[in-house]
Amino acid sequence: MAVGREGNGSVEELDAVVVGAGFAGLYMLHRLRQAGFASTVLESADDVGGTWYWNRYPGARCDIPTTDYTYSFDAELEAEWTWSEKYAAQPEILSYLQYVARKYDFRPDIRFSTRVASAAWDDAASRWTIKTDAGDRLSCRWYIMATGCLSLPKEPDILGAERFAGEVYYTSRWPHEGVDFSGKRVAVIGTGSSGIQSIPLIAKEASQLLVFQRTPNFSMPAHNGPAPTDRLKQLAEDRDAYRENARRSAAGVTMPIPVETVAMLSEDDRRRRFEEAWEEGELLAFGARFADLLANREANETISEMFRQKIREMVDDPKTAEALCPTDYPIMTKRMCLDTDYYATFNQPHVRLVNLRKHPISTITESSIDTIDESFEVDAIVYATGFDAMTGALVSVDVTGRHGLTLKRKWAHGPHTYLGLMTVGFPNLFMITGPGSPSVLSNMAVSIEQHVDWVADCLAHLRDRGLERIEPTHTAETGWDQHVHDCADITLFPVANSWYMGANVPGKPRVFLPYVGGVDVYRATCEEVVERGYLGFQLSGPAGTQCNDGVIRRVQPDVFAVLNAMAELDLPLLETLSPAEARALTTELNAARPPGPEVGEIVDGELPGPAGHLEYRLYRPPTAPGPHPIVVYFHGGGWVLGDKQSDEPLCRDLCVRADAVVVSVDYRHAPEHRFPAAADDAFAAVKWVAAHVQELGGIPGELAVAGWSAGGNLAAVACQRARDAGGPDLVGQVLLTPLTDYDMTRSSYVENADGYILTAGLMKWFWDHYADPAVRADPRVSPLRAGDLSALPPALVVTCEFDPLRDEGIAYAKALEADGVQVRLITARGHTHTSPTMVGVVLSGASIRAEVAGALRQFFAAAVQA
Ligand code: FAD
Ligand code: NAP
Repeated sequence: MAVGREGNGSVEELDAVVVGAGFAGLYMLHRLRQAGFASTVLESADDVGGTWYWNRYPGARCDIPTTDYTYSFDAELEAEWTWSEKYAAQPEILSYLQYVARKYDFRPDIRFSTRVASAAWDDAASRWTIKTDAGDRLSCRWYIMATGCLSLPKEPDILGAERFAGEVYYTSRWPHEGVDFSGKRVAVIGTGSSGIQSIPLIAKEASQLLVFQRTPNFSMPAHNGPAPTDRLKQLAEDRDAYRENARRSAAGVTMPIPVETVAMLSEDDRRRRFEEAWEEGELLAFGARFADLLANREANETISEMFRQKIREMVDDPKTAEALCPTDYPIMTKRMCLDTDYYATFNQPHVRLVNLRKHPISTITESSIDTIDESFEVDAIVYATGFDAMTGALVSVDVTGRHGLTLKRKWAHGPHTYLGLMTVGFPNLFMITGPGSPSVLSNMAVSIEQHVDWVADCLAHLRDRGLERIEPTHTAETGWDQHVHDCADITLFPVANSWYMGANVPGKPRVFLPYVGGVDVYRATCEEVVERGYLGFQLSGPAGTQCNDGVIRRVQPDVFAVLNAMAELDLPLLETLSPAEARALTTELNAARPPGPEVGEIVDGELPGPAGHLEYRLYRPPTAPGPHPIVVYFHGGGWVLGDKQSDEPLCRDLCVRADAVVVSVDYRHAPEHRFPAAADDAFAAVKWVAAHVQELGGIPGELAVAGWSAGGNLAAVACQRARDAGGPDLVGQVLLTPLTDYDMTRSSYVENADGYILTAGLMKWFWDHYADPAVRADPRVSPLRAGDLSALPPALVVTCEFDPLRDEGIAYAKALEADGVQVRLITARGHTHTSPTMVGVVLSGASIRAEVAGALRQFFAAAVQA
């Protein structure tokens, strides 16, 4: 391939063009060179460094310990460089990147002071044409945007900003010669990380400092100092293990995995952990102290309040302290900050906080910043107002893909990517740490190396096979987008007006931009994509075309985590055990579950069954004193396993959400008691509860049934029997992933035979224990086989995508509907037979249970109206 700068209007031919000479672009160049690809890096700055070239404001330093925020690809480089501080300052990080550029002699392949203006895909040639502001034209097979997640400063969006005649600075474009604020009246607008780092140092020089704050941030003392000896020791002892652990960690820095939720800790333990985190001064480690900090609003609020107490202790003036306390978003859903003396700065007499929430800026004039009720004369304004993050630098280049589609247009409503690496319609365009990858939620040095390695390995793979083109498929991209949002939706991130959500830039679509599933999970996913023949990518070239289309993650992220955790336990398959062994194992597993929400009261009792007493457990809602509607609930377990308390977390959850008494009843189990014992017991229980509604604290006329799995089967059967027997009257039935038919040949049995906890083999084991083949078509065990389903109570049927029983649940809902029963069918995407019942574990199941509770409330409300 010809290489060399033409400068005369002709097109320069290259294998690869990389945009950006920060951490990402430099390492990308290294890997491309090693692989023998003719490559050039284009960079708008006049030297290497990226973030650390531009952000030279006073106090700029990293917020991930520098021992970890560093390249790991070359042991020799690591041996040559020792960081001086726990959090190195910008000049040291820049020196490091300059050292790296010298060591590997990068500069000859980097074109500085060159901004890429446009990139256009030539479909016939399978090449990109890149145009720069300097008038260069380059043609390349592979176009790699290492343009940075936080590199495009946000446009000033304050009325009158252009009129100001004094000095104006941007933290993100700080003058190389530095700024002397001595004796000046300075205003800093913005209190994100850049503002919080620079404010204490600007205060040291300025005669007066005004801090214009719109949203207060949570900031912790960094406790900066020499690089921590424990980390240096670990590195010295086994550098490879240290780095590999980081690569396989949740956020790119090794730290303990949290297991205890905030509620599980005593007040003292909570306080102790919080204080330890405060002393440690590490962002990611702070989050790792409490398992549910980013998932549970109440837990988050508990910790947020501890944080606010710290702010109140540090700031003398109570009004200022209160204004500095964040209250309108959960802690860590906007990037938390690390500081040195930030809050104490407000105790100085020449420093004043202007709370823009109460006193918004009306305009900037030639000499002042005016709020709606005060005018502040200033000599200099420092904008610490942030970036058009994650997508800004990418779409600021005029990128045109196949059929004239521009990236800006494609992403007008938010970015769409596959793995955050590529996007449909733009073949051979790679993004380093693009939207939809862990990027800004991780130690970016680790995430950058992972992406660069993936891209470099991919290019070598394509070349080795005579392929010259790669592009994700629509299926894969849509699936990944969904997965990225599924991951975000089980966290508190989407509730904050953060730059993670694009909320800081007026007009930018509100979409959660990074991937929150974890660096470890993400890396494994990218590896799996390759192992499965570049799943979801179309590869083509003179040697032909190949495409293994598909979606890499179809189950919900938390369901995926549960399945992995179960696989790691390497438990025996239940169907290989005796019923007694299977019962013992499920009891043991159940004991480890979170208990479910607090209810008002739990009462154990007995009721008369057809063949002796049946035990029940009653859950009363916390909303005393009642009476409440009643739900008779039947547990799951394939007629073989379980008991009145085996579904306790679910029963508690339903009780609280539906504000109803839940009576969970035992029934005789197979194989000791075969068909129709369970069905007879279930119906007897319904009749008994109906006859004792008032004693149980229920409301006459407001009785429903519910059940999960085999319990769903019993609930459905009980409804049919109640209809046929002329009572009791039931106002509704909730059938959660119910067993409705003995036919085990439906597609869902075939598709989900293994791998999703309830296997086809286990279902056969259940059937064999409970019912002879000769009786299986009896509607008391296969309610779908009842000839007539009319006049049954209104139903909610929940089916799950990855459940062998999915199709028989759907069939039952359809059959009910066909016979005129009011029915609602939920098909829970990405869920398994068990996952919606995993209260406090599978958070994505909460919305399903909310719908179940909503349906129950509706059944009861309709009964009242009737
Ligand atoms: P960048 O360093 O942003 O480099 C991108 C380069 O691309 C820039 O030099 C830019 O000029 C160039 N470029 C962009 N568009 C064009 C174009 N059209 N034409 C030519 N050139 C272009 N992350 C952490 O993990 N830990 C930290 O402690 C941390 N601290 C940070 C502190 C600050 C002040 C900021 C702003 C970010 C911080 N980050 C941190 C995030 C940081 O951006 C990344 O860690 C990392 O430096 C990004 O490297 P990069 O090469 O991907 O992008
Ligand atoms: P930022 O977090 O987006 O903060 C910008 C600040 O400016 C916010 O307080 C914002 O208020 C305010 N602001 C924006 N427009 C405004 C307006 N028109 N009027 C008044 N206030 C306005 O940006 P940043 O501080 O540059 O940090 C960006 C990211 O870079 C960080 O989150 C971090 O990832 C990285 N960074 C890291 C470090 C570090 O410690 N290593 C340092 C700097 C940056 P609102 O919140 O109300 O929008």
